[in-house]
Amino acid sequence: MGLLDSKHIAIQLFNDLDYSRVFARRSYFILNCQMRIFKWTPFFDVKEESPIVLIWISFPNLRLHFFNTKVLFALGSIFGRPLKTDQATASRTRPSVARVLVEVNITKKYAKEVWVGSKTFKYLQKVKFEKVPYFCTHCKPHGHDLVDCFKLHSELKKTTNNSNGKETSRTLISLRRILFLLFRWTVSHPVLRRLVVFPLLILQVVRRWMV
Ligand SMILES: [Zn+2]
Repeated sequence: MGLLDSKHIAIQLFNDLDYSRVFARRSYFILNCQMRIFKWTPFFDVKEESPIVLIWISFPNLRLHFFNTKVLFALGSIFGRPLKTDQATASRTRPSVARVLVEVNITKKYAKEVWVGSKTFKYLQKVKFEKVPYFCTHCKPHGHDLVDCFKLHSELKKTTNNSNGKETSRTLISLRRILFLLFRWTVSHPVLRRLVVFPLLILQVVRRWMV
């Protein structure tokens, strides 16, 4: 253990079990001061926060014969470095869902379903990421994403600086988030994408053509 700078200390852990125990909590309170945990990599910069976090990935209704460490770690490795399963998964006492703790880069996009099984006996398995923290790829801190970034959207900052406008700012952020999520969902939906996005694109082309 040693100082990296006045705000950061480096903690070396010598096995995956200690690492997953310490890192899975993400932050600790010591004498009412928050200590946040980030993974060190050769690209670690004290001025930025790392997008690599431990996430519990769950596989609801996974077929029971796949409840073994080898298969679960193979599933986890699709998304990152698997570290452990939870106790209920290891002992098969909760067969409704299998959970694996995986080291994930949250700036990447991951599939929500994966093919499981052999070539002749395969099925699409649902994948759920639990409690993914917000991360802004623009200014690189945890806690907010691109939609709520003050540096990218200066109008959000102006509204928040005004004490009377705090509620308006929150509403604006919520509305922006809802619209963003609605748009993302629409784009990923096979039918709605054709019904909404294509007509919008055609409308844009027609508008440009008219001008
Ligand atoms: Zn930001």
